[in-house]
Amino acid sequence: MGTQASSEAFKKAQGLIPGGVNSPVRAFSSVGGTPLFITKGEGAYLVDIDKNRYIDFVQSWGPLLFGHRDESIEEAVIEAVRNGLSFGAPTEAETDLAELVVSMFDSIDKVRFVSSGTEAVMSAIRLARGYTGRDDIVKFTGCYHGHSDSLLVQAGSGAATFGNPSSPGVPADFTKHTLLATYNDIKSVEKCFADSSDIACVIIEPIAGNMGLVPADKEFLIQLRELCDANGTLLIYDEVMSGFRASINGAESITGVKPDILTLGKVIGGGMPVGAFGARAEIMAKLSPDGPVYQAGTLSGNPVAMAAGLAALGKLKKNAAVMNTLNARGIRLVKGMKAAAAEFGIEMQIDTRGSMFGFFFNDKPVKNFADASNSDANLFATFHSKMLKEGYYFACSLFETGFISTAITDEMIEDAIKASKRVFKEIA
Ligand code: PLP
Repeated sequence: MGTQASSEAFKKAQGLIPGGVNSPVRAFSSVGGTPLFITKGEGAYLVDIDKNRYIDFVQSWGPLLFGHRDESIEEAVIEAVRNGLSFGAPTEAETDLAELVVSMFDSIDKVRFVSSGTEAVMSAIRLARGYTGRDDIVKFTGCYHGHSDSLLVQAGSGAATFGNPSSPGVPADFTKHTLLATYNDIKSVEKCFADSSDIACVIIEPIAGNMGLVPADKEFLIQLRELCDANGTLLIYDEVMSGFRASINGAESITGVKPDILTLGKVIGGGMPVGAFGARAEIMAKLSPDGPVYQAGTLSGNPVAMAAGLAALGKLKKNAAVMNTLNARGIRLVKGMKAAAAEFGIEMQIDTRGSMFGFFFNDKPVKNFADASNSDANLFATFHSKMLKEGYYFACSLFETGFISTAITDEMIEDAIKASKRVFKEIA
């Protein structure tokens, strides 16, 4: 499988774009080799500029639940494009998508659309601070909530991949309001509450996907909810990644524990740039123009993006059972890979939630970022590059999650397991 054209394209890009990429983790830095330059997607496949085809387990880092070029999403987008790209004025499509989103989550009455997950979370934090009149926030080491200043503290995803979980350029005066706790460890959260009586919100990925896939224990979320209630603090679920991926009705439908504010992104835009945050009416009433907390966006609620989101979520709502099929395929994939690895004496930890799957080369269960960091990064890198040669495109960092789309068939999963067996045999 030649990648000469990608190598040349990468060299040229490096001269013009920092690191050659517009989002750091895409650079393949932690797994080595050249990032593939893509010309198109077709169903389950990505096609690169060397004309190689790969089964895509990244799905644009989550958004493409129905694979590449889903017909109904594509048609909805084309129709919207023909009516104009942007108006900066209200459209009915925004209300339609809001109605659809609100109908899928018990915890929210109203939702506002933005253009990225980062914006959604940044705005949710401001809303929580505005609503409570408090400054401090609690976040968990290894969770990633986008790249806004107060959240770029011990972050997962690309930040962890590059060994830079906090960033120069973020004044200490900002981050002193960000208290850190350990995922799945309620005592560490209790300590934050003991240290501060000014905590506006606790933000968590209830199904963390940015330190690899590490779901929160149900008991931990129950205790977190109780702690927040006891302290007049809001609980924010960041479901930018897990929303419509782990479950059609959110983590709250899996655990029974509801957040006060919810953030969404990725799938909600069907592949177009959309984020959203929602809450009970009483909290959302604080938001401008109804209330004093300011938040805005030139392209927010963009008609083309709304059309894509409506098509994607509409399709999902009509075919809710698809989640079970996707989950079954995810389980089959990671169980199959784990069994293949075990044949050659390699231990793996695996998990799935809906269409999200995760695996660690680790001999102990992974409950938090420290556990995830103790996984064998070299083995992961070797596995990644050898699977790529076999034609399988996995996320290029051990701190990321894999995604199954409806375009990935059982046969493709079986073939991927067989390929992993060949790879483990080579590695062992
Ligand atoms: N929150 C979570 C949980 C995410 O996974 C991400 C991105 O991966 C973000 C926020 C930021 O979203 P975006 O990259 O769209 O700004």
